[in-house]
Amino acid sequence: MKNSSLVPWGEVSNWSCKACGNCCIGYRVPLKMDEMVRITNQYGESVLQYGLGKVYLRNQSNGRCTFQRPLMGRWICTLQGTKPTACRLFPFRMHNKPIYKRGDNAKVQIDDKTYYLYMDPNCKGITLGKPTERFAKQIVPEIVRIGMGLPVKQKYTTSKSIHWRPI
Ligand code: SF4
Ligand code: SF4
Repeated sequence: MKNSSLVPWGEVSNWSCKACGNCCIGYRVPLKMDEMVRITNQYGESVLQYGLGKVYLRNQSNGRCTFQRPLMGRWICTLQGTKPTACRLFPFRMHNKPIYKRGDNAKVQIDDKTYYLYMDPNCKGITLGKPTERFAKQIVPEIVRIGMGLPVKQKYTTSKSIHWRPI
């Protein structure tokens, strides 16, 4: 997705993952080095796909991530407890600078650091509008801490309806 389509978090009223699984189709999930090592050790190299200087999770021929499985009418991630950071962040995108020239509503400050947070409008869990207190004070800070690489146990930024089992 082009950056020009992203929505600043300050224009979002709330977000709640519907566990629709759409974000696991047709996206390429980049892996950090430690994620690649961990996943390769557990599942082998066949789950990886190599790109220009990057390593991604392999998608199946139907475009679905290799770790997505159907369960009781839903699509679930079988890496649920150890998802790559890119997946834990979705549908948020974190930048160090604003992506729009006009002052946008994406700025967020955590621990004296400034970031710019946007959302992928393809996610069905997004409700546009003035941010609710829960969104601004619980969801956004949790996502930014995940993006900073801090050890965060996801409380507000994961679907409550997902039950998972490791493969
Ligand atoms: S993050 Fe959005 S697109 Fe992905 S499963 Fe949740 S609601 Fe669906
Ligand atoms: S690892 Fe899980 S969350 Fe990430 S794309 Fe694959 S199925 Fe979706």
